Formats: sequence, structure tokens, C-alpha cells
Amino acid sequence: MAQAVLDPQLADKAGSTSKAATTKYVYFFGDGKADGNGRMKDVLGGKGAGLAEMTNAGLPVPPGFTIQTEACREYMRGALSPAIDKEMYAALERLEKLQGQKLGAGENPLLVSVRSGAKFSMPGMMDTILNLGLNDEAVEALAERSKNPRFAYDSYRRLIQMFGDVVLDVPKKKFEHIFDSIKHREKVKFDYELTPAALQSIIVEYKKLVKKETGKEFPQKPLEQLVAARDAVFRSWQNDRAKTYRRINHIDDWLGTAVNVQAMVFGNLGENSGTGVGFTRNPATGEHVFFGEYLMNAQGEDVVSGVRTPLSISELERAMPKVYDHLKAITWKMEKHYRDMQDFEFTIQDGKLYMLQTRNGKRTGLAAVRVAIDMVREGLITQEEAIFRVEPNQLYDFLVPRLVEKGEKIEVLATGLPASPGAAVGQIVFTAEDAVKYHTNGSFKSVILVRGETTPEDIAGMEVASGILTSRGGMTSHAAVVTRGMGKCCVAGAGDCTVDEAKRELRVKGHTYKHGDWISLDGTTGRVIAGKLKTLDAQPDDPDLVKFMSWVDPVRRLKIRANADIPRDAKQARTFGAEGIGLCRTEHMFFAEDRIEHMRTMILADNEKDRRAALKKLLPMQRADFVGLFKSMESLPVTIRLLDPPLHEFLPKREDLLVEIKHLEDTKPRSPKLKELRPLLARVEELHEQNPMLGLRGCRLGIAFPEITEMQVRAIFEAAVIVKKKGGDPHLEIMVPLIGSIEEMRNQSAIIRRVAEEVFAEKSTKVDYMVGTMIELPRAALTADQIAEDAEFFSFGTNDLTQTTFGISRDDINNFLPAYLKYGIFKQDPFATLDQAGVGQLVKMATAKGRNTRPTLKVGICGEHGGDPESVKFCHKIGLNYVSCSPFRLLTARLAAAQAALQEQQTGPDLHSGTN
Ligand code: PEP
Ligand code: MG
Repeated sequence: MAQAVLDPQLADKAGSTSKAATTKYVYFFGDGKADGNGRMKDVLGGKGAGLAEMTNAGLPVPPGFTIQTEACREYMRGALSPAIDKEMYAALERLEKLQGQKLGAGENPLLVSVRSGAKFSMPGMMDTILNLGLNDEAVEALAERSKNPRFAYDSYRRLIQMFGDVVLDVPKKKFEHIFDSIKHREKVKFDYELTPAALQSIIVEYKKLVKKETGKEFPQKPLEQLVAARDAVFRSWQNDRAKTYRRINHIDDWLGTAVNVQAMVFGNLGENSGTGVGFTRNPATGEHVFFGEYLMNAQGEDVVSGVRTPLSISELERAMPKVYDHLKAITWKMEKHYRDMQDFEFTIQDGKLYMLQTRNGKRTGLAAVRVAIDMVREGLITQEEAIFRVEPNQLYDFLVPRLVEKGEKIEVLATGLPASPGAAVGQIVFTAEDAVKYHTNGSFKSVILVRGETTPEDIAGMEVASGILTSRGGMTSHAAVVTRGMGKCCVAGAGDCTVDEAKRELRVKGHTYKHGDWISLDGTTGRVIAGKLKTLDAQPDDPDLVKFMSWVDPVRRLKIRANADIPRDAKQARTFGAEGIGLCRTEHMFFAEDRIEHMRTMILADNEKDRRAALKKLLPMQRADFVGLFKSMESLPVTIRLLDPPLHEFLPKREDLLVEIKHLEDTKPRSPKLKELRPLLARVEELHEQNPMLGLRGCRLGIAFPEITEMQVRAIFEAAVIVKKKGGDPHLEIMVPLIGSIEEMRNQSAIIRRVAEEVFAEKSTKVDYMVGTMIELPRAALTADQIAEDAEFFSFGTNDLTQTTFGISRDDINNFLPAYLKYGIFKQDPFATLDQAGVGQLVKMATAKGRNTRPTLKVGICGEHGGDPESVKFCHKIGLNYVSCSPFRLLTARLAAAQAALQEQQTGPDLHSGTN
């Protein structure tokens, strides 16, 4: 039995109970029936379950067997059960009997593919081996039988290369070097021009390379090849790119992959053979057209790797009309069967069609909405089902930027394929490492990754890039598939571009663009445009989107508000469907150039009188801002938070002041500026705190300097009265930040209520208002019953609550987050997705305690989590009244809230939410 590899991190999670006695490890499929079925994704992985389902549905699927995911988990634990080998050999025997062939032996040798297939699709992240079973003898038999020696030798050289790379760790580049130099020697441009003799010499060189690198011959025994390939697929579950992909997509590390062993069919048997991939609808736009690409005389990897640019599927209709019709009929049957858009892979061997895979296809947000709407119209799914057919985060696609072209001189450098919509404007880099480096160190504001073609190794670079440009590859190339999943702009296969990765140059239309130069991409049309264009925010008035949201909104119970500080953002939020403002951070009004000066005077004042004088100057400015905000929101509620951040945030940095003073002292010692700067420095030093996030901030500011609260509250009420007198109907919620005790709350609410009464008396007008607090400290959550005696509403500031519950600085988490994610200590960044087991429990408990005291207590959340789908669903489950998020996350939050409500209707309320 092969040596299992133990990954200590995964070993623990993979569990340690031996299930060998009861577990069925190998599931057969073929001859019209399968041991498994489409619902067994946990066991068989997505691909294995799909193959079983397709077989059961009577599709022409090459037979084979699936080794289930438990085997991979055993591999991770370093304890593969002997039953696995036993069941695998029995399944192989059954396959051989069915095919009338023997693996790698006899006149008509059986060859198999060995592929990974996890529960969740991880395109290209793990390894595959094709043509397994070939050896020095079998290749001759295959040449003889197929009457196509070129095909036989080509298949063998591919096996040695893949097996060498994946199983034996021989660097791929070394194989490529041999291949290219023989191509050069033979003076051929395309791979398929190589003669059988040239391919034979490639095989000889490949085998020498394997011997040199591993000290052993390339294995000739088919069973030895099979066991080693299976284990290599298990190993590939733990490779870096697979781990990165899982991290980005929140896929559990312990799930493991299944291994699918399947009889090979060949798309490279000659001009009557081919292979392709496709979708039953357009995955970029959702348009109801049969969509796909294929290559004649090729194997699957040629299509998806992007090395050869494939033909459109409509060409197949002309070239092989019968096969085309059969393919169309099968895939539409599968679309009806699964009631969802299908993505499929097929091979034509000697004019006969085989289906290798069909599954629910990945698509952009635009396509997801369109397909959902069309399918309801076509009667395939219900309106409720449609709501689940779009991932909440996919709605970003409607908000992706577009290029501003009006009035601009547009120089189109090249037109590639519109692989993933949206626009990206950025500085170019040529490697994934550079993308990460220049993005992370902040030297490039926006990075565009330019590659000949992307490979799964590029995943980390693609994640940080604003857009991707490739010169090769089609709509189903790696770059296209991955960026669509990420909702990121991509132009693929821009053939007029020459990408010189070694020289870090992009040459196109007589221009040479170097590392760091700006270009613009339009992923919706495929254009590559010279220079740095401006981008325009998408308008969320797409008719499909409007219709979809009209199904979504009536279903949800949670209200959705926006975090917005200025009238412009408030207006934007309303166009995205905000039902109020859940957080207006008033300090943001003070950073404007005309205000910071007064703010600084106020902070520098060392007595109340001077402070009040400075505040008086700020008052009309704040009042004007609030007037704008109340007007924009009409009668919707507006939650205004009193000043929160540590005061030093408004002052210049101590180090900058020191440098400036020193410079002036050296060059202009009599400069009057020194008179200003020295006291400023003294005050900055006075205000310096070891832990400013735990220092003079939040309600502590208003308690230490009540005149600040007085001024802000006066500005708020005067503005409200102005708007009301002009016929408006403002609804204010005044929020005190960072409360930890009822005494703090009472102190501030007394000021608020007193000033309100003063203003109402002065202006002879009253407005509706409530006084409440943020719950952002564990003590506030623990004493929520007391705080609710005074507070009329709670808004959970889950950014600070996460910071204070974990004791992790929200600004410094990146120093160790990668390690925490890598070791599985965090499944995701707790500042992005609410920690339901810890912080979430505080939210749940405080809500219950607060409502116990005050049953009408209004409760919401306004931390970053308010726009995160999982966190929104949690907020629904625990019965909050609303979530508040940044304007661009409103659509996402609306959909997540609707999905949560529907899920609850289907399964009943979750009384234990967040306890696991
Ligand atoms: C919070 O802490 O969650 C919050 C919304 O406030 P801020 O991010 O401004 O501290
Ligand atoms: Mg906060």
C-alpha cells in the first residue's frame, strides 16, 4: 500500500475514528446504473455524484468508479484502510469486464483518467492524470489498434509528463523544455505537427528525465501507476493553491476530495474526434443561448488550459450536425433534470459523443439574476427558488464600475473575449507575486495582472488584482472561470497582445507597456484600452435586477439600513434601497478642510470657554450637514452617533510635527509658524495614549467635555426643526457610542434630552426622536438589561465588539490573520464575518436582556458585519429589527435577509442559532 502523508493540521480535524468496518469506499458507475446518485456530494464529491447521476439518467458516460472522500480523510490522518485497495481492485476488475479490456495490457488496453472531485467545485486547484495504464507495451498496442501511432505516442508522452509532474514531483518546466527543443529541432509550429518518430524521441527523453530526477524508471506496472496517482490526487487536496482557494471560498479543509477513475475516451484520435466544454446558457450574461467551445483532435486540457484558442460551439453545428444535436438534446435534458443552468464537458471519439461531466454552472451575478428570472418564466422553478439561485455577494456585479467614455479619447489597443464583466483601471504587473507585493505594500493603488494565460498557481495574485488580462485562452479558460467566480473584470484571449513575462512588457499595437504602466479594461466588451480612464459606478436600475429585488423585498423581515455620513452617500443609499440610516459617524463631518481647523482649535483649548468658542464655529457646519441628511432621508429613520474617535485622530502626527519644527528651527528660526507648532506638539504629546482605542473616546469624550455633546445635539435638533418647518418629517435616533454602564448612558442621555427641550422651546417646534446606544463592549452586553432602562434602542457596533471580545486590535489583525486562517484557528476573518459562537452570543444575549427590560426596544447592527450574508442571516435568526451596512452592500444584505426568512419558513425558526 502506498505511503500516506500526514498533515498534522488536517489530521486532527479529519477525525480519528476508524470507520473501516462499515464504510463503502468505492462506488461503481457504468452500463446505465450507478452505486451512488447525485445527492451524495459529501461522499462522492461533486464530480462523482454527477457521474453517478448522469449514468442513472442514461447519458453516454464512460464507465468507472469513485473512491469516496472518507479515503482522503484517512489519507490525511496517515491511516489508509486496506479495504480501499481491495475495493478499488474489485471495481477495476468490474470495469475491465464491462469494457472487455485490461488496464494497460493486451491488444486493446484499457486506459483510465484519475481525477479529483471535492464536494464543492475547486476548478483546476487539484491534480488530474490522463491516459493512465500506458506503458512501453501498451502504447504499441494502442498505436496498432487505433491505426494512429501519432495519437498513441502523444498520449504516452502526456502521461509521462503529467505523472512525472503530479506524482513524481519532476518540475513541469523540464518536460516543457524537452518538448520545445524537439519541436524546434523538428521545425514545427504546432504540437499536432510532430511526427510519431519525433514523439517517440520525446518519450525517450522524458523517461531519461524521470530516471535522472527520481533515480527510478517510469513505472511500467499499471496498478502501481493507479495507486500512486490516486494518492497524488489525495495529496493535491493539501497543495497551496487548493488551500488558498478553500480559504477564499470558505470551504472546510477537512472535507477531502474523492477520486474518480474513469475509462478514457479520446478526443485526439484524429479529425473525427474532439473535445469541448460549454454551458446551456451564457454564463456571463445569462442569455438563453447554447454556449461553448471545442477543439478537434485534442484532449480536454487543451481547451481549458487556454494554450490553443478554441472554436465556438456553433461551428460544431456545421461540422458535425448530428453530434451537435445530440449534445444539445442531452444538455437541455440535464438542465430540465437539475432545473438549473448546466456546465458540461464532452468528448467526441470517432464521431461518437461521450459526456464527461455536467453540473450546475458557475455564472456571474448578472447571469444568475437573468437565469433565475427566465427560469421562473419558463416554469422550471418557482419565484421562491429563484431567490436562492443568486448568491447575495453576486449582486455586487450590478454595482461593478463601468468605464467613463463620453468625452474621452478612447484608444482600443486590442479586443479580447469579454470573460468577466465590469471595468478595471490599474497599473500592470506580470506575475501573481508582483500583484500581491505591489497591492500589499500599497505602491500600486489598483493592480491589473497581465499574463499569457493564468494557471491555478496565480490564484493569490488574481485575488488582489482589480482586473485580469490574458493574451491566450477562451471563455472557459482558467482566467475566465476564476474571475467570474470572483466577480472580477477579465479580458481573456486578447491575441493582439504580446505578453513578455520575462521582460515584464506588454506589446500591443506598436506600444510597449511596462511594469507599473496604466491601462483600462472593459470586461463586458473585451476591450483593452490605453491609459487611465475614469470609472463610473453601475446604476442599480437594471430591469432584471429591479424585478428580482421586487421578489426579494416582500419576503424579508429584517429592515435594511445604510451607514452613511453625508447627504451624497445617503442619496446613493436610497437608490440601493436603504430604509433608513443606521449609522451616521458624525466625526466624518469634521475632517473636511474648512472644519478640521476649528476642530483642532477646540481640541487645543485648555479651558471650557475657549472650547465652547471653537464649538460655536463648528455648530452651523454640522447643522447644515444634518439638514442635508434629513432632507435626503425624508421620513425614514436616521441614526446619528455622537463623536466617537480618540481626539488625536484630528491632530497631525507627533513625528511629522517634530520633523517640521526641527526643519523650521534649522532654516527659519524666527518663523511665526513655530509659535503655532510648538503648543500643538505639546498638546499632541499630552493627548498621546498607549492604547487610544481603549482611551479617551466614545462616550468618554462627551462625559469629559459635555460641551461637545451639547453642541452636536443642538446642531442635530436645530437642523431637524428647520427641516420640519419646511414641511419635512425627520425621525431622529441619537446614539451614544461605547457605553459600558448605565451610569455613562444616563449622563449622556440627560444632556441630549435637556438640549432637545431647550431647542424645542426656543423654536416652538418639536420633532420625534429617540435616544439609544451602541453596544460595543462586553460589559454593555452583560448589563444590557440595565442599559435598556434608559436606552430606547441598541445598535451593535460589532467592529468594536469583536475587537473587545477577542481582545484583538481591529487595525492589527493582519499581522497574524494569515497564520490563524492557515491553521484553521479562524475559519474566516472575524471582522468580516461575525463570530457567531462568541461575539454573536453576546449580541443574542444583550438583545434578550434589553427586550426583557423594554419590550419595544429597537435593535440593529451597524458594524461591517451588517453587509455580510452569513452575519445578516444570523441577525435575522436572533430577531434583530434591522442591519445597517455600507451603501454598496445593501443589495447583498437585502437578498441575504430574504433568504434567511425563506429558510426559516421552510425549516422553522432556529432556536439554537449560533451555539455551535
Ligand atoms: C463598530 O464598532 O462596529 C462601529 C460601527 O463603530 P466604528 O466602526 O465607527 O468604531
Ligand atoms: Mg465602534
